[in-house]
Amino acid sequence: MTGEEVLNTFQARGALLTGHFLLSSGLHSPRYLQCALVLQFPDEAARLCSALAEKVRNDDRIGRIDAVIAPALGGVIVAHETARALNVRALFTERQENVMTLRRGFAIEPGERLLVVEDVVTTGGSTREVMKVVAAYGGIVAGAGSLIDRSGGSADLGVPRHALATLEVPTYIPEDCPLCREGSIAIKPGSRG
Ligand SMILES: [Zn+2]
Repeated sequence: MTGEEVLNTFQARGALLTGHFLLSSGLHSPRYLQCALVLQFPDEAARLCSALAEKVRNDDRIGRIDAVIAPALGGVIVAHETARALNVRALFTERQENVMTLRRGFAIEPGERLLVVEDVVTTGGSTREVMKVVAAYGGIVAGAGSLIDRSGGSADLGVPRHALATLEVPTYIPEDCPLCREGSIAIKPGSRG
C-alpha cells in the first residue's frame, strides 16, 4: 500500500478534512485527521493494519514481536488489528490521573518484545508515554508504528518506526493564522452544526 493510497482511503471516508480547524492544542490548522471515520469500517481497519504489520515484519531491525500495545482510545483498534495480523496479543494503556498506566490485568513479562502503535503520530508524545510503561515492566520496545505520521517524518522515538503515510500539516498560533487573517473562523473538528 503506498502512502498515496492510504491518504486516498482517508479522503474517501471523509477522514482527511480540509478547512480551518481549532485543534485541542489551541492551534489552528487547515487540515484535520479523524481516523475513527476510517476505522469504523472493520475491513478498512484490517487492511490498513495488516499493511502496517507487513512493514514491521519486513524490518530486520525490529525482529520478533510478542505483543502490540497502544494508548487508549485512539490506538486501541490499531493495536487490535495489527496484533491480529502479527498473531500476537493486543494491549492498551490508559491515563489514570494523567499518568499512562497498564490496567485491566494486562501484564508484560520481562524480556517480552513489544510494538507500540497509534493511529496518528504528531509529536510522538503518547507513544513515548507507552514506551515508558513497557520499560517499567521490563519489556523491550522493538519498534513503533502508526497509520499516519503527521510530523512530516520528524518525530524521533529512538526505535525503528513505521507509518503508512506521511503528512505535513501546518499549524498556527491564532495570532499568526493566515486563515483567520482571511476572515474565516476556526471550527472544532467533530462538532456538528
Ligand atoms: Zn485560524
